[in-house]
Amino acid sequence: MIRPGKIVCVGRNYRDHAREMGNDVPVEPLIFLKPPSSVIATGSPIVLPRASNHVEFEGEIGVVIGTALRRATPEEALAAIRGVVAMNDVTARDLQRSDAQWTRAKGFDSFCPVAAAPVPDLDLDTLTIVTRVNDLERQRATAADMVFPIHDLLAYISRIMTLDPGDLVATGTPAGVGPLVPGDVVEVIVGGVSRVTNPVIADEE
Ligand code: ZN
Repeated sequence: MIRPGKIVCVGRNYRDHAREMGNDVPVEPLIFLKPPSSVIATGSPIVLPRASNHVEFEGEIGVVIGTALRRATPEEALAAIRGVVAMNDVTARDLQRSDAQWTRAKGFDSFCPVAAAPVPDLDLDTLTIVTRVNDLERQRATAADMVFPIHDLLAYISRIMTLDPGDLVATGTPAGVGPLVPGDVVEVIVGGVSRVTNPVIADEE
């Protein structure tokens, strides 16, 4: 399983998703962190926390860093990518709205399903991202729909914090996000080859 040292996420990176949430597209990338402890593998359950009444899936293209990036150019950033993975930026939407910081809304254990291994050498410009809930397609987009393309995102982040080998960058979710309830099965597929599938359960502890 992927064990990133850090997970850097990008918000509102698809116009149609920013619009569905009632937000403008940011003028520069909007970034936040998810804790590495939120990572789970395919097959492990997403546990809906008692603190939230509204947890949503966010299918995303994940980028795994291969070589360290600091103050990189977009070209250097592209060359440093180990591969891409399907991932799910699970979000407690009610807590995201009520909290000034998104740490709680994005940070619960099990809130970051990530596919088993990065897939190298996919064409980053034409990558597809598809999310299915109970076999029903809920999200579909390509990396070409991003506000800020992958190489620009990595270069931007690397001017703030060094990206280390193994770090994971979540590049934003397209339109179609929606709630998860116990018994759901949610699957994210990137490039048709990287996939992560997880059942959803209530927190019974
Ligand atoms: Zn997200």
